[in-house]
Amino acid sequence: NVIGQDSDIMHIVHVTAEMAPIAKVGGLGDVVTGLARACLHRGHRVEVMLPFYECLQKEQINDLTLSDTYLSYHNGDWVSTRAYRGHVTGIPVILIEPANQFFKGQRVYGGSYNELEAYLFFSRACLELMQVTATQPDIIHVHEWQTSALSLLYWDMYHKLSVKKPRLILTIHNMEHYGECRQEQLNICGLDGSVCSTIDKALDDRTIGHNPERLSLLKGGIVYSNAVTTVSPTYVKETLCSGWLSNTLMQYCEKYVGILNGIDTVLWDPATDVFLPAHFQAHEIEGKQICKQYVQRGLGLDSNLLTVGKNSTSKGNDSPLVVCITRLVAQKGLHLIRYAINRVAELGGKFILLGTAPDGRVQEEFEYLSNQCKESNNVRLLLTYSEELSHMLYAAADIVLVPSMYEPCGLAQMIGMRYGAVPIVRRTGGLADTVFDVDHDQSHADQPNGFVFEGIDEGSLNGALERAFQYYNEKPQLWMELVSKIMRIDNSWEKSAGEYINLYNSVRVR
Ligand code: ADP
Repeated sequence: NVIGQDSDIMHIVHVTAEMAPIAKVGGLGDVVTGLARACLHRGHRVEVMLPFYECLQKEQINDLTLSDTYLSYHNGDWVSTRAYRGHVTGIPVILIEPANQFFKGQRVYGGSYNELEAYLFFSRACLELMQVTATQPDIIHVHEWQTSALSLLYWDMYHKLSVKKPRLILTIHNMEHYGECRQEQLNICGLDGSVCSTIDKALDDRTIGHNPERLSLLKGGIVYSNAVTTVSPTYVKETLCSGWLSNTLMQYCEKYVGILNGIDTVLWDPATDVFLPAHFQAHEIEGKQICKQYVQRGLGLDSNLLTVGKNSTSKGNDSPLVVCITRLVAQKGLHLIRYAINRVAELGGKFILLGTAPDGRVQEEFEYLSNQCKESNNVRLLLTYSEELSHMLYAAADIVLVPSMYEPCGLAQMIGMRYGAVPIVRRTGGLADTVFDVDHDQSHADQPNGFVFEGIDEGSLNGALERAFQYYNEKPQLWMELVSKIMRIDNSWEKSAGEYINLYNSVRVR
C-alpha cells in the first residue's frame, strides 16, 4: 500500500503481552495487530515483541528463525534467553524465550509461573535485546501493566547505558488492572524498589485504602512514559473522574490522550473472511443470509428462513438473531447478559452467546444455564473461546449486544457493524463514541447506527431490545438500509493510526 505513506519514516517497536491471532485473549491482541499493520502500510518500520508463550500457534508464524541468544537479568541471576524473529500475517515479530518456566502452559494468562515476575523479566529482556544488538528504535510502545515497567527500566537504567534514542508511549487498554506489586518484587527485575516507592513514582496514592507498601506498575508507566494514551475519548474523561489512578492521570493530563481503537480490516472482512460459508459486503448482502442459516442450522436453532435466491435480501421474514461475544466478567454486564438470554427468546428472537469466564464460579453458572437451554430452539450458550466461531457469529447476527458496565473502547460493536450486525450497547466509554441511537441521538442525527441505553438495570436494556425488535419486525426496509449503512462505516485503523503517528512524532528525538 503506497497510498498514504508517510515521508518521515520511524522505527516503532510494540512490547506487548498479546497479539492477534497468535496470542489473543481480548481487545489488546486485536489492537496491537491492527495498529502495527496500519503503521507498516504507512511506510514505517514496525516490530512487535511478545513472549514466546508455549501456547503460541506456531503454524501462524512465518519465517520463524532464532536470531539472538543472550543473557537477561532476573532475581540476581542472568537467564539464558533466545530471541526469535518471524512474521505474523505479514507483521514482523520478535519472540522472547527465557530458559526457565516462564510463559509455559496451554494459556496466555493463568499459567503456573508467577505472572508479575514473568512480565517484569520480559520487559527487561526486551530492553536487554536492544542493548546487545545496538537497536535504537524511535518509539517503544508499551501496553497495559504487563509491560509498564519497561518505561521505568528504560529511564532508570538502559537510557544511562547505550539505548539512548527511544521515547516511550504507554497505552492503557483497561484501567481495571494496575499491576499491583511490592517493593521487593520490583527488585527482582533489577529496579530499586525503594527508589520507585514514592508518591511521585510508582507508590499507591489512594486516599481511601492507601497502602504504603503497595506499588502499581501502571502508575509507574504513566509517570515514566513520554505520552500515555487510552482507547477512546470518553474513557479519558471517565478515568480522569474516577478510579484510583485518576489523581495521577490528572497530574499528567497534558500527556494523556484518548485515541479511538480501529479494527483490523484485513482480519475482519466479510468479503474475504476464510471462516465464512459465504461472503458478502454492503452492496452484495445475500451471503449474510447464508451465514445466518448455516450457523442456526449448525447449532440446531429452528429457522424458518426464506430460501436464499437471486432476489432475496439479507433479511427474510425470520426472527432476529442476537449474538453476544465476550469475556464473561463483571465489566461486561453479566446480569444484563443473563437477562437478555431469556428476554430475546420471549420477544421471538434467537440468542447465541460465545464467551468464557476466567472465574470458575461464573463459568459453572453459565454452564448450568447452557444445559438448561440445550434443547431450546432459540438459545445457545457456547462457553468456549473460538476465533472461527466468532467470525461466523458476527456474520450471522442481525444484532450484536454489548451491555457493558464500563468499556474502554470495545471492538465487538465495530466488528459487528462491519459484518452487518446492528449494535445494541450501553452508553459508556468507547461504546458512547462509536454507537449513536437511531431514535434518540440528536447530536449525531446524521449518523445513527444502533440502539443505545443508559441505565444498568434490566428495564433499560429491555427498552433498547424492544425498539430494535420493532424496527426489525415492522420496518424491514429501514432495517435493511441501516444494515447496509453500518457496513460502510469506516472504523478501520486508517484514521487512528494517523493520530498515533502524530503523537509518536511529537515525542521522538530527531
Ligand atoms: P476486551 O478487550 O475487554 O475483551 P474488546 O471488545 O475490546 O473487549 O475485545 C474483545 C475481542 O475478543 C473481540 O475481538 C471479540 O470478538 C473477542 N472475543 C471475546 N470473547 C471471545 C470468545 N469467547 N471467542 C472468540 N473471540 C472472543
